[in-house]
Amino acid sequence: MLANLSELQKEISTSCAEFAQKRLKPIRSEYDEREEFPLELLKEFAQMGFFGISLPEKYGGLGGCITELSLAIEELSKVDSGLSLPVATSALGAIPIMLYANDKQRDKWLPSIASGEKLAAFALSEPQAGSDATAQKTTARKEGNSYILNGVKHFCSSGNISDIYVVFASTDPKKGARGISAFVVEKGTPGFKFGKKEKKLGIKGNPTTELYFENCIVPAENLLFNEGFGLFVLQETFDYSRPGVAAQAIGIAEGALSETIPYLKQRQQFGQSIASFQAIGHEIAEIYTRVESARSFLYDITTNMDKDFKPAFDKAIENKTTLREELKKISRKRWTKYSAMIKYLASETAFHTAEKCVNLCGGIGYSREFPVEKFMRDAKITEIYEGTNHIQKNEIAAQVLKEY
Ligand SMILES: Cc1cc2nc3c(=O)[nH]c(=O)nc-3n(C[C@H](O)[C@H](O)[C@H](O)COP(=O)(O)OP(=O)(O)OC[C@H]3O[C@@H](n4cnc5c(N)ncnc54)[C@H](O)[C@@H]3O)c2cc1C
Repeated sequence: MLANLSELQKEISTSCAEFAQKRLKPIRSEYDEREEFPLELLKEFAQMGFFGISLPEKYGGLGGCITELSLAIEELSKVDSGLSLPVATSALGAIPIMLYANDKQRDKWLPSIASGEKLAAFALSEPQAGSDATAQKTTARKEGNSYILNGVKHFCSSGNISDIYVVFASTDPKKGARGISAFVVEKGTPGFKFGKKEKKLGIKGNPTTELYFENCIVPAENLLFNEGFGLFVLQETFDYSRPGVAAQAIGIAEGALSETIPYLKQRQQFGQSIASFQAIGHEIAEIYTRVESARSFLYDITTNMDKDFKPAFDKAIENKTTLREELKKISRKRWTKYSAMIKYLASETAFHTAEKCVNLCGGIGYSREFPVEKFMRDAKITEIYEGTNHIQKNEIAAQVLKEY
């Protein structure tokens, strides 16, 4: 599958796979048990260039796009999707900046994100604003050359280890969804602090935290695009970020298979390897086929996505415009339906695969001595974040019903 990888894609895949085996595999169960993230990994990810994979060379990135990012996330997630999550969450925080920041803002934030000097994160969810992201209670009041932010965000991935947060807030509560705006808020801004860290089922190596904004003074120049465009910023970010969740899910499924199949081949029962039982072989055939199909669909989508995204970004840099404006000039097509389809398909495939792997391995599959139960716990989140699968299906259905 995906035989025609470019040199850059091969290099990224190989370096992520090697890094994951060498650095993540030996520590994954320890940090899962401790529910901690080893901060030294951030420096190592940065040295490997992982934070700049999907950023243009102009900003110090590797010049890749959504495909390269997905390949990296897939390879890292084959070993540990929790410890490697900062690579994905920093890209998630960078995408709204890539799409909606002006030239000056791009110059300000993208080089430090690409180098890994600063990690980006995405702060949309609030206690009462989950699937209904428009129910934002965080407010941003304009005062002179600043906005004063007040409110609470929760469930922020890489929450207390990031530096540059894309924060959504209502600049005009009377306008509801059309009154939401997106801001970049940097760590250390007065009035911005971290809250509690969640105790979770999976991806335990990544800190999911609350963020508090109490009369937090954010320079007006940190507003992304215009007031009231927050809904577009978040929707279009998900168009390009959900393939990353799908890549994570596929990596998790492949990781579970890579631990399970060798075990099935060596485990003897009734005088033969359990892999040799036809019932077991059929289960392997079923899950493997699903994983390969999802993978194929993912890279078909990202390869097509990149055909617009990359040249449009080059144009935005050349014309000093926003990427979003340049994308609109090339095509009015949105990727919402495809991103939702692949996230839904890949995440369900991941959980189904990992759960099957636990069953196939029997008692050892259920034991924390063996990594397969961890893959199952880690898979679950891919069905939830960046929109639950109900929400993905709502988006797919809305589009499909329009088309027929
Ligand atoms: C570990 C973790 C990390 C996260 N990281 C981030 C992050 O970095 N940044 C961020 O902003 N958020 C993050 N989130 C939040 C995540 O995106 C939300 O949890 C998710 O969107 C669901 O929102 P909710 O939890 O409020 O569930 P709810 O919206 O309360 O949904 C509960 C149930 O109702 C269903 N439901 C709701 N509305 C509908 C509908 N219209 N039709 C059908 N079913 C519906 C849902 O599908 C779900 O089954 C994270 C969450 C977790 C758990």
